[in-house]
Amino acid sequence: MIIVFDLDYTLLNTKKFKSDMAKAMGISLAVFKKSYEEHSKNSATNYILEDHLDYLVKTGKYEASQKKIIKKKVMNFLKKIDNYLFSSAAPVLAELSARGHKLEMITYGNRRWQRLKVGNLKIKKYFQRVIITDKNKHDQLRFWKKKEANVCFVNDNAKEVVCIREILPRAQFILIKGPYAFNHPHNFKVYNLKDCLKIIK
Ligand SMILES: [Mg+2]
Repeated sequence: MIIVFDLDYTLLNTKKFKSDMAKAMGISLAVFKKSYEEHSKNSATNYILEDHLDYLVKTGKYEASQKKIIKKKVMNFLKKIDNYLFSSAAPVLAELSARGHKLEMITYGNRRWQRLKVGNLKIKKYFQRVIITDKNKHDQLRFWKKKEANVCFVNDNAKEVVCIREILPRAQFILIKGPYAFNHPHNFKVYNLKDCLKIIK
């Protein structure tokens, strides 16, 4: 079977990751959250670090001269991204690989930023393909259309799961517990990541 994992909030504890990223940037979580949302309001894509730093300078949180050093701090912080994986992430991926499944990843967001995140992850070795998209995830689903009955999507975001099911109705879905598991009406059961080992033989 082809098992397609989402990254944020599915394998990665993105909530903790963001809160520690704020610390690494020397700003409070409240400032981080507000600026994170505000700076990207008019942007077509998701998170862009440069734009976020520019916004923080513009709103007086940093001096322009600090930008370079803050960026370096974020790059160093990214090197520790493995610490933010859920504890069951690596064991689940290792076991599913050992059972002979083909693992892939699809992640949504600014390509450059997501590439930096994925590039620093040790678990990337388990994935035969990583798709990073700044378009809606379901626009990228042509990759699996021909073999949809043999594909399982593991994702925490109910809205995304419902969208994917509309396009690939014969695929299997494992909705993972998290802050986005009920952002859209659905009839899926909600699971912990380690339940994948019971559901997928
Ligand atoms: Mg997610």
